[in-house]
Amino acid sequence: MSKHELISPKHKVIALVAHDNMKDELLEWVEHHREKLALHTLIGTGTTGKLVNDKTGLVVERLRSGPLGGDQQIGARIADGDVDVLLFFWDPLEPQPHDPDIKALLRIAVVWNIPVACNRATADFIMSSPFITNEYVRQVPSHER
Ligand code: PGA
Repeated sequence: MSKHELISPKHKVIALVAHDNMKDELLEWVEHHREKLALHTLIGTGTTGKLVNDKTGLVVERLRSGPLGGDQQIGARIADGDVDVLLFFWDPLEPQPHDPDIKALLRIAVVWNIPVACNRATADFIMSSPFITNEYVRQVPSHER
């Protein structure tokens, strides 16, 4: 497949999604990285976005709730080149009604070569990378609109 380059700017769009059993962990994590996250634009699935906004005061653009299509909306934005980082705390211990959407979201994030954290340690590594506050040139599939 031929590739071309896309710039992830300094000011990034970070997508947040957490399944119900993982929401407390994501909230704690967001609180811990609050200052750095405030430098970026946040989007999220409905309930996750609302909780982050209510508990931390960070502004989050809220899409649909995950089971109602929110994961697919985030996937569509990734395919449009409009998301730079995905923080997706999915639940490894419980099946979800929207498991196919979850797989699709993870797949499209790999296709478009964005950094993805599925747990707190990876999210910490991403936030401590110099790329989070600098431009990053990523290789993406060649595409025409
Ligand atoms: P929610 O969706 O933030 O609306 O709970 C997350 C998910 O279940 O994918």
